[in-house]
Amino acid sequence: MPPLTRRLSKIPVSLRGYALAMALLGAMSGVTVLAYPHFKSPHYALSAAFLAAILALAWFGGFGAGLVATAYTIMVLPRLVDPSFTLQKVNWVSFMSVATISVLLSWAARSRAQLRAANLELDQRVRERTAELERANAALQERESLLLKQTEELARSNADLEQFAYVASHDLQEPLRMVAIYTELLARKFRGSLDAQSDGFVETILDGVHRLETLIRDLLAYSRTIHAEAPAPERVDASEAVQRAIERLEMLVREAGASVEVAPLPEVAGDGVALTQVFQNLLSNALKYRSDGDVRIRVTAEPDGRAWLFSVEDNGIGIHPDYHETVFEPFKRLNSRQSRGSGVGLAICRRIIERHGGRIWVESSPGQGSKFRFTVPQANGAVSKTQTLAANERP
Ligand code: ADP
Repeated sequence: MPPLTRRLSKIPVSLRGYALAMALLGAMSGVTVLAYPHFKSPHYALSAAFLAAILALAWFGGFGAGLVATAYTIMVLPRLVDPSFTLQKVNWVSFMSVATISVLLSWAARSRAQLRAANLELDQRVRERTAELERANAALQERESLLLKQTEELARSNADLEQFAYVASHDLQEPLRMVAIYTELLARKFRGSLDAQSDGFVETILDGVHRLETLIRDLLAYSRTIHAEAPAPERVDASEAVQRAIERLEMLVREAGASVEVAPLPEVAGDGVALTQVFQNLLSNALKYRSDGDVRIRVTAEPDGRAWLFSVEDNGIGIHPDYHETVFEPFKRLNSRQSRGSGVGLAICRRIIERHGGRIWVESSPGQGSKFRFTVPQANGAVSKTQTLAANERP
């Protein structure tokens, strides 16, 4: 730091302007007093030099320093070079003009300094925010790429798993059928000639084989639903789909003595075979998870925006709200002892409904029956199957 700056920095900021004024005016007054007698035309040069000093002090030293310099130059300095000078001779117009200029200049300097400080602060803040944003952006990009990688890995492992489930269930069907056939042949051949315990063993084997058959069949059905491509939506008469499902479940309906009430149902846009499967799964569950007493099932539909909202309602055992989501996951069962099944029926329903762009959920509580609800797009714009066939047959 230069010596003058070092010395100035030791003076309190508010007094620095005055100190500067004293130093500068003192030095200039000394030079003036010594050189004055030798000046040829002292008046203008002196005035110009002191005016420059006043302006410099107003600019760099502030209001106070500018005014002190003005007062000193106009009221005190003339006395140093001219002993006959008195305050009566002061040119007040000059004083007021110079004082005004010095005040305006110091005000401009102060505004400029404030503007500069504000700009610097703004710059600093912008730099800090930019650095922060860059850091956050880098972290976000890193997280995004990690997420992308994990999603890709998950998708790959899901695809592998689905492929494995499909191949395993498909290839297991044949050997299992052989085991079932030959066990049944053995059972038939030795029925009566074995003791009661051995008969029990054979029954247990057959039971296990049948369970395994059901599981593999359902697993295969689930895998097929996952792999199935969504066909172009057709006009599907929901009443016909429900009727087909009821026909397939005729034995179960009769066995349960159930009353199945089907309200008038609309036409929807979708895959007729898949929607029949949905109704079949829901109706067979309503029959399976029945309570003691009358079994009553109701199928209804109501408009829901651009879709139809279907409900399959039963008066069965119901489902605790904790499991309303879980029951739609594959292989999740709540009542494994009460009835046979592999826990994929509702998972298949969800896949099919989501493929139709709809939603499926259950409203239920234990002992109060269950209401399975799902949405399917309205038939507007979808072509009927007969129209599709006719179009395909055209040359
Ligand atoms: P599964 O019937 O083979 O077990 P689902 O996926 O069809 O498989 O159903 C999953 C579980 O949801 C069932 O095990 C049962 O506990 C419960 N559930 C489904 N439908 C009903 C219903 N209508 N009433 C009560 N519980 C039901």
